[in-house]
Formats: sequence, structure tokens, C-alpha cells
Amino acid sequence: MTYRPTIGLEVHAELKTRTKMFCNSANDPDEMRPNINTCPVCMAHPGTLPVINQEAVKHVLRIGTAIKGKIADFSEFDRKSYFYPDIPKGYQISQYEHPLVMGGELSGVSITRVHLEEDTARSIHANGKSLVDFNRAGIPLMELVTEPVLHDAETAGRFARELQLLLRTLGASEANLEKGEMRIEANISVSTDDKKFGTKVEVKNINSFRSVERAIAFEIDRQVALIESGGKVAQETRGWDEAKQITFHQRFKEGSADYRYFPEPDLPKLFISEIPEFSPEKLKASLPELPWERRARYESLGVRKEYADILVQPENKFINNLFENIIKNASGDSALISLAANYIVSDIVGLMQDTSVESKISDAEKFYQAFFTLMQMTKEEKVSSRGAKDVLAKMYREGGDPEMIAKEHNLLQMHDTDTLLTAVRGVLKEEIKAVEEYRAGKEAALQYLIGKSMKATKGAGNPAILKDLIIKELA
Ligand code: ADP
Ligand code: MG
Repeated sequence: MTYRPTIGLEVHAELKTRTKMFCNSANDPDEMRPNINTCPVCMAHPGTLPVINQEAVKHVLRIGTAIKGKIADFSEFDRKSYFYPDIPKGYQISQYEHPLVMGGELSGVSITRVHLEEDTARSIHANGKSLVDFNRAGIPLMELVTEPVLHDAETAGRFARELQLLLRTLGASEANLEKGEMRIEANISVSTDDKKFGTKVEVKNINSFRSVERAIAFEIDRQVALIESGGKVAQETRGWDEAKQITFHQRFKEGSADYRYFPEPDLPKLFISEIPEFSPEKLKASLPELPWERRARYESLGVRKEYADILVQPENKFINNLFENIIKNASGDSALISLAANYIVSDIVGLMQDTSVESKISDAEKFYQAFFTLMQMTKEEKVSSRGAKDVLAKMYREGGDPEMIAKEHNLLQMHDTDTLLTAVRGVLKEEIKAVEEYRAGKEAALQYLIGKSMKATKGAGNPAILKDLIIKELA
């Protein structure tokens, strides 16, 4: 039997706002002291009233605009009732019938909806005790749901990474999986019938993109094996055990009826289409260049796809600006641009990640210009590609001007033919055997002679020029 897997993702992300979703308590995911950012509203004291956070609504509408979803004309919040210690009101304010965004597409995956809700408190179970930290209670939470249109783990992983990139590019969320700022739930089913889905299982507690892929792959295998051995897949919620790399049963799923959804009476309805700030034009104009647009721009300038993927990551402003400055000054010279992309990804990123290396860059603008100059020197072969790496590392560690550094460390390639010719003649006089071999038609002998000549110029000779000189001398 062949089984076709189907996957749909539900992704939650904590939104970056000054205050919580329905009150004035600070939204600070980095607050380590428990129960600091709380107030009577997010602690659910009787008689308090929620107020909608406009910043959070705007984040979701911008996300919706970026994925070309339909922004709701009318939207409202609903109460989703369930009982748990981390949900102080006994219900979560969420959205059910009228989400802020319907439809859309990201990374080739159809989106069902994007809505806004509030996060729960954090439960901590330790030393036989259960503790609750309400700092997180009421933080604005986006939920994005995909259609069941994914069919393999890698594509699901790619989608999740692209969504993280979008959230970061929009400044909507830090979206770190390890910190729980972005949480991915995967719904997985398998079926032997192309026109019918199998029973789906929902997998939670996935803490990394790699685990997204592994959990999905594991679950596909588990379900297939279960059916093959005559069993039936139960509709359940399973957890991902990171240590054992398996999914395990958590609970059987509630139907939506159990949540007793109804419109939140304490909040006003949202007539989005009547709010000028949320007009489609205004929202569109508020978007920065989107990751896939930027990627396409870089690739059209000659940047390799693997490099473009790294250069579009928005969390490293220094790298972004460094590369944009090259583009600005290179006036379309794709050789120079791809050369710079190469040095940024393979050298600068490495230097920045190396904690033993301290950067001496005090003036970023100055470094951007120095880097541009170094790339020009490299392209014009004033320094070798090896030499450029050394110059770059020195610029990064000690600051300074690339021409000065190259001169000081003898890294400038010599183009001065007279000096080079003297060196070549010296080598040819010494290397009688290699010269004979060359004359006998041995290609390797030429390489050998170029190497010797390089050495004679202490690495400063331009190999292309040396080669020409040797050939001419021996002609
Ligand atoms: P529920 O009401 O159980 O939450 P939804 O219809 O809201 O189910 O779907 C939740 C998620 O599950 C969506 O991402 C959807 O694409 C996905 N999904 C629905 N049916 C299946 C299925 N048979 N196999 C895999 N994923 C599915
Ligand atoms: Mg659902």
C-alpha cells in the first residue's frame, strides 16, 4: 500500500507590543522575575474590563496583507471557555467566527486564517509543586492556520522557517522557537485514498524547526505502521518528546462544542473597513520589503540562492546594511556584488559568530565603505582572494583602511611587470628541470613555475600576470 501523508500547521506567535492584549501591563517576554507584569485585568479580578490593543490588531493585519489574505470588514473576539490554572478567567479571549484575516498564501502554502488571541500564563512544575507565572497571561498571540495542503516534513519545515522570517521582517514577533515566542503544532494524517483524508493527530511541544520535521516524519511512520498492523489512528493530541525523539499520547481532542464559543460581550465589535488606518492601501504602504521580494532582488543581482537566504535574515542589521551598502555603490556590477555576498557569508558572519574575536568596529558607516573598497581591490586583483580574507579579518579586529593594511602586511598584489619579470627570470634560471619539462609539454610544470614565482614575490605577484610572463619568456 502507498500512503499519502497530509499535514496542516497551526502556528502561534507572541506579538511584539508595548503592552498586553487587553490591559496596560507590560509585554516583556524577557522579564525573569515571576508575576511582575500583572494587573487586575490580566489576573482576571472581578469587575475589570478588557480594552483591545490596537498595535496587536495592526500586526495581524500587516501579516495578513503580506500573505495577500482577505482583511475582514468585520471582526470580533470570542470567549473560548476551558478550565486550567494558567487561564485565570476560565476562558481565553480568542476569535472564532470572524478572524481578522481569511485566506492568503505563504511559501506556496494556502493559509486558512490568521486571528488574534491572548496567551496563557506559564505553568512551572518542579519539585512536586506546580507554580504559575502570570507575566505571560494576556500577551497578544497570533494564530495562523494552514490548509491541509502539505505532504512532507521538509516542506512543512521550510514553510515554518519562512513564516518566522516574515514575522521578524515585519517586526511582529521575535519568533524564537526555543523561547516559546513561536509555537508550531502539526496536524498529521495518512491515507491510501487520494480523495479522502485519514484521521488527523495533532502534535504539540515542538521546540525547533528540526523537531517540526522529525515529529512529522515520526508520526507519518507511526500511523502507517499502526494501520499496516491492523490498528486505527485515533484523533488525539500527542506531545513531541525531544529526548526520545518520539510522539506520545497526551489527550483525546475536545470538539469545538466543548469550548462553548460565544462573542465576548465586554469588547466592541471591530468594523475594520471603517478604520482609516487599517485601509488596504495604508496597510500595504506600511510593509517593508518582504523576504521573498528581497531574496528575488538579491538573486537578480547575481547572488547565489544559499547566500541570499542568509542575507535576507533581518536580525543582523549590521550584515543587512553592509550588503545593502555594497549594492548601493556597486551600480549593478554583479561580479562585485556576488563577491561581497561571498565574503560576508563566509568570513564576516564567521567572525561575528566567533566569540573569541572582538570587533573593533566603532563606526559602522566607515567599515561599510572600507569593505566596499576591499571588494573593489579584490575584484581588480590588487589583493588575492586569500589576502582579502586576511585584510578583512584585520579590518574587523583592529579597524583601519584596507589599502593601508594590505600594504603594511605585504598583501598587495604586484602588477608592476618590471619587478615581476625580474622575479620570473630569476626563477627560470634556477628551475632548469621544470623549464625542460614545460618545453616537453608538461602542463604541471607551468603551475610549478607560477608557484615558484609567487614565492619569489612573497605572494604579492598576481598569478595571472606571472603566468603570462613565464609563457612569453619561454616562447
Ligand atoms: P480542529 O477543529 O480539530 O482544530 P481544524 O479543521 O481547525 O481542526 O484544522 C486544524 C488544522 O488541522 C489545520 O491546520 C488543518 O489544515 C489541519 N487538518 C485538518 N484536517 C487534516 C487532516 N485530515 N490531516 C492533516 N491535517 C489536517
Ligand atoms: Mg482548530
